[in-house]
Order: sequence, then C-alpha cells, then structure tokens
Amino acid sequence: DMLGAEQHGLVISRFGQHADIEDNQGQVIRCDIRRNVSSLVCGDRVLWREARESDKRRGVVEAVQERHSQMTRPDYYDGVKIVASNIDQVFVVSSVLPDFSDQIIDRYIIAAEDMGITPTLLVNKIELADEQQRQHIDERLAYYQQLGYPTLTISCKQQLGIEQLIPKLNDQISIFVGQSGVGKSSLINQLIPDADIDVGDISENSGLGQHTTTASRMLSFPGGGRLIDSPGVREFGLWHLTPEQIINGYIEFLPLISQCKFRDCKHQADPGCAVRAALDAGEIPQFRFDNYHKIMLSMEENRSNRTFVR
Ligand code: GDP
Ligand code: ZN
Repeated sequence: DMLGAEQHGLVISRFGQHADIEDNQGQVIRCDIRRNVSSLVCGDRVLWREARESDKRRGVVEAVQERHSQMTRPDYYDGVKIVASNIDQVFVVSSVLPDFSDQIIDRYIIAAEDMGITPTLLVNKIELADEQQRQHIDERLAYYQQLGYPTLTISCKQQLGIEQLIPKLNDQISIFVGQSGVGKSSLINQLIPDADIDVGDISENSGLGQHTTTASRMLSFPGGGRLIDSPGVREFGLWHLTPEQIINGYIEFLPLISQCKFRDCKHQADPGCAVRAALDAGEIPQFRFDNYHKIMLSMEENRSNRTFVR
C-alpha cells in the first residue's frame, strides 16, 4: 500500500482494530492499527502514516509513544487493562446530595495519587447545602487544601464556580471521576454543549451488574483543554487497592510511618505508632485516620470474600 510520511497524532478514540487519530491540524482520521502495536488507548500519542488508497482520508498507526500516565482497571481475563493514558488532571466530583462523603473522596485521592496525579476536588450542588452542611464541607475542604489538593465548590444548576473551573481545564487532558449521581454528566454537558451525555443515566452503576464496556473518547472544551470520558473512566477509583496504594493516598501519614516503633505497625492502637501520636496531638484529623482504617478493612474483606472489585 502507498503510505505517506510519518506524522504525530493523538488517539481520541479506540474501537476494535481501529482508532480515530487527531493530526497536528486538528483533523480526525480513522486509522488501522499495525499488529505490532500491542495496546492503544484514548490519550495515546502515536506515529502514523496516511494511507492513500481511497477518496476518504485513512491512516495506519505504526507506533505508540511513551505514556506519562496511565489509568488501569482490573480485568477478569488480562489481570489489568489500560483504560486511558496521558491524563494530566483528575477532578474528583462529589456533591451535597448524594451525601458529601470524605471516605469516597479519600478513595479517589488514593487512586489519583497512584497515577502520580494530585487531584482537584469539586463539590457540586452546593446550592443545596444548608448552613450546617456548608460548614462541614468547608471544614473538610480546608484540610484537603492544606494537604495540597485544590478545591472548588460548584453548582451546575445555578452556574456557580464554573467560571473558576474553566481556566483550570486549559492545555490539560482531564478526567472527571466520582460516584454516580453527583453531577458529572451535567457538568460535562455544561462545559461541552455538544457532548450530549445522558443525565441521570444508571447504566454506569455497576452495582446493578450492567457493566458497560463503552470505549473512552476524547472531547474538547470550547475554551481549550480536553476531557477523556467513558463509563469506565467514571468508575475509576472504586476497584481493588493494595495496602501500599492506600497509604500512599494518605500523604500526611507518609513522613510519620518510618518513625513507628514496629515495622509491621498497623497504625491503629500499636505501641509507639507515630500516626496515632499525630492523631492524639491533633495534627491528623479523626476523619482521615478513620477513613484510612475503614478503607483498609474493606479491602481485606473483599480479599477474603474473593470478590472481584471493579
Ligand atoms: P452523574 O451520575 O455523576 O453523571 O450525575 P448526573 O449529571 O447524571 O446528575 C445526577 C442528578 O443531579 C441529575 O438529576 C442532575 O440534574 C442533578 N444535578 C446536577 N448538578 C446539579 C446541581 O448543581 N444542583 C442540583 N440541585 N442538582 C444537580
Ligand atoms: Zn504506626
């Protein structure tokens, strides 16, 4: 076949033996994938060539460039599956309703830190918070901010905080993650009017056993920046975590654990535990200490039940 010169491109979606590549001019070309290209996912930077064989522009992907980050999920058959790559930013979306849960936020922080990314925390539906809820949320957000996680309260419904969010999306590849019902689809639809995602869609609720396999796709924000989205991306962070991954999401614990008296310290009620001492001294808040142990326990239970956590 007649092939053009080698070019750089960005994978904006991948399906079966094909991928849609965006070229340097922002044009989308449907490509075949060379057999030696072992895995190709949304977000990959690739080398490709144009195949001049028909009136339509087609191409062939020849190589994948090194990824600076990758998002993986457990896979029943392959062990681990790559969902998307080269993600720069993770926005953890939570809300006032369903209840604001710092334990769920902690889980997403763990998963983002595992990817090497410092997540930004968004709290949506803020217009629903009464004074007491608002105070509780502000208190939690102040602590997360102190840890280095940027935070923003927003309302899709009342268009609050959206102007502050838009500049953060510029020049970045972002993902929005969070529990079902917090308003991720609403937020994406608001930021990208032609995204056309079903709001209130329950198909992503894997608890119903309707596990969706829809491929990831890359969308562009009108003001700049990109978003990778799929049901799999939105489920990010809810699958199995190892004890090492969990503690790496508790960044304020990390400088302490080497000071614990025993190397196998569980940081619970163990004698000489530096994490416990920091809790007692008020340097670590109770909620982070409790969440750490709840998440550790839930992962142990999952292991002993031999259930496959997605
Ligand atoms: P997703 O499951 O995270 O994608 O959440 P959806 O975008 O489907 O939203 C779930 C529900 O929350 C829908 O009924 C939305 O209309 C509603 N919702 C989204 N944003 C807001 C908001 O800022 N305020 C209120 N009150 N409801 C919202
Ligand atoms: Zn300890």
